[in-house]
Amino acid sequence: MQTFFESPLSSVLSKDYLTPKSLAHYKSFTLRNFREIPQIRRLSAEQIEAIEVVGRVLPFKTNNYVVNELIDWANVPNDPIFILNFPQKDMLKPDQYEMIANLMKHNAGVDEIDQAAMKIRWELNPHPAGQGRNIPTYEGIKLKGSQHKYRETILFFPSHGQTCHAYCTFCFRWPQFVGMNDIKFAMRETSLLINYIKNHPEITDLIFTGGDPLVMSTKLLAAYINPILKANIRHLKTIRIGSKALSYWPYRFLSDDDSESLLDLFNNITRSGKHLSIMAHFNHPRELGPGAAKDAIKRIRETGAEIRTQSPLLRRINDHPEVWARMWQTQVELGCIPYYMFIVRDTGTHQYFEIPLETAWNIFRSAYQNVSGLARTVRGPSMSARPGKIQVLGISEIQGEKVFVLRFLQGRNPDWVGKPFFARYDKNANWLSDLKPAFNEKRFFYETDPS
Ligand SMILES: *Cc1c(COP(=O)(O)O)cnc(C)c1O
Ligand code: SF4
Repeated sequence: MQTFFESPLSSVLSKDYLTPKSLAHYKSFTLRNFREIPQIRRLSAEQIEAIEVVGRVLPFKTNNYVVNELIDWANVPNDPIFILNFPQKDMLKPDQYEMIANLMKHNAGVDEIDQAAMKIRWELNPHPAGQGRNIPTYEGIKLKGSQHKYRETILFFPSHGQTCHAYCTFCFRWPQFVGMNDIKFAMRETSLLINYIKNHPEITDLIFTGGDPLVMSTKLLAAYINPILKANIRHLKTIRIGSKALSYWPYRFLSDDDSESLLDLFNNITRSGKHLSIMAHFNHPRELGPGAAKDAIKRIRETGAEIRTQSPLLRRINDHPEVWARMWQTQVELGCIPYYMFIVRDTGTHQYFEIPLETAWNIFRSAYQNVSGLARTVRGPSMSARPGKIQVLGISEIQGEKVFVLRFLQGRNPDWVGKPFFARYDKNANWLSDLKPAFNEKRFFYETDPS
């Protein structure tokens, strides 16, 4: 039985935010240097080969905190956090894997391997439906780093925030945007965004997302956020920041060179009268265990910010109701608000992680039944698809037909939200595109809607 919450270091760490320097110094591991990780010696030659082969195609990065504090090496290769960061053989199809492995065996050149890797990436549906739409324009200029899909919320991808402290193997958003590294650029992007929001009184929420915007230095982040505060837009009520730093690098809020100024920035946001919500990604309760993570949560909350949590449901990582119930319950204890459970998107390594909708619903329901009402702020399981966020409410039988009951949590058209609708039951369906309307109807109600 593994213990998720205690590691000897954790209890030391939580004393007055004391963090041993060796740990608090961020060190990333990639294909280039992962063999330096002492624990890697526990892996078989096949497992190391898999990292090298799959890591040529899919992004691979981890760091010293994940390696030393989160992964339970005694449980590798089945350890969920190991699978979360380290490429696994079955993340590629056998022929894809063989193609790269053979090239490497025959000492092919970097260019040749890269070409093959690119070919495989195209086979992995890199741009699932709905990506890249809803790009807003201001006076004819496209705001390329933004997405305005739902009436009240606008997403903003600051060009400097397109990386993460470690990469999740289920994520396919590897850094495609090579950041232009000057503050002027950040300010130009932001001024367009401010004008756009000013012109759209329906927008209440601005969401900073990435990558992970909290990878940025405070100085850069402030170059984005301060002008927004200064613009004093009355209808903009909330700033959200999506981040996985709480689980991959909690020292961002504790002992990095600019941790204090980051918390000051959070303070400034809340003191300006805006709500600040940190949208934290936690995939497994173990990420909440270390003292550093707990301390970081405490410090963020001291600034007046709220922390809301979300995660996809992933086979081999968190596909048990007890894992979710424990995660939500712990989050509530620590003062976080469970927010979304997602179904994995139809891109990248999804075949390795995906779960039938029926199973997803059963896991959600069973976890939900086992937590108090305070954790039932969570909604799911939900698919972020082209028309909107669609929740699987359950399976039922209507007029003798077994059906999925669904509803929009968010819709491209706000009128769609909250109306139950029905799809034919299909035990193998993993995603919206696998579903057909129930009752022999030709289309789902939203497919006839021109919006
Ligand atoms: C989820 C999401 C949002 C935020 O929706 P909320 O339900 O308000 O959290 C905004 N834009 C896009 C594209 C999203 O997927
Ligand atoms: S932290 Fe988020 S954006 Fe970064 S790799 Fe993981 S899922 Fe992708």
